[in-house]
Amino acid sequence: MTLHDPMATADDLWRRLVEHQPAVAAALALKVRELPADWAARSLGVARPEAALVLPSSGPEHRVEVEPYDTDWESCPACAETHDVECRYHQGFVAGHGSLHKPLLDAVALDPEVAVRTVLQQLADDDEEMQG
Ligand SMILES: [Zn+2]
Repeated sequence: MTLHDPMATADDLWRRLVEHQPAVAAALALKVRELPADWAARSLGVARPEAALVLPSSGPEHRVEVEPYDTDWESCPACAETHDVECRYHQGFVAGHGSLHKPLLDAVALDPEVAVRTVLQQLADDDEEMQG
């Protein structure tokens, strides 16, 4: 299943929502019931809801995660839900890991004897300078 199949994505999201966030699923169902007959025109600018199935995303497409993350990468249900990429938690983890490791690796490249404490202190000092 890809994001480009909105009906399959909606089915998958609904199934996961009912399983993991039943209160949100119930609230969503109630909201859908209250939509006026012309909701597609009002909200999406199309005459029929089916016409909106081909509308592009407003930004980069990414899956909406319903399943909770697990800090253990190997057993993270949110990562499993996203299929071929990391979940938002693990994307943040990778970004944080990268932003810490790059300065450490750069420092070691300049001076193999540099202490981690020295690099972290320099990073903290740089942050303070940037924040004024
Ligand atoms: Zn994950």
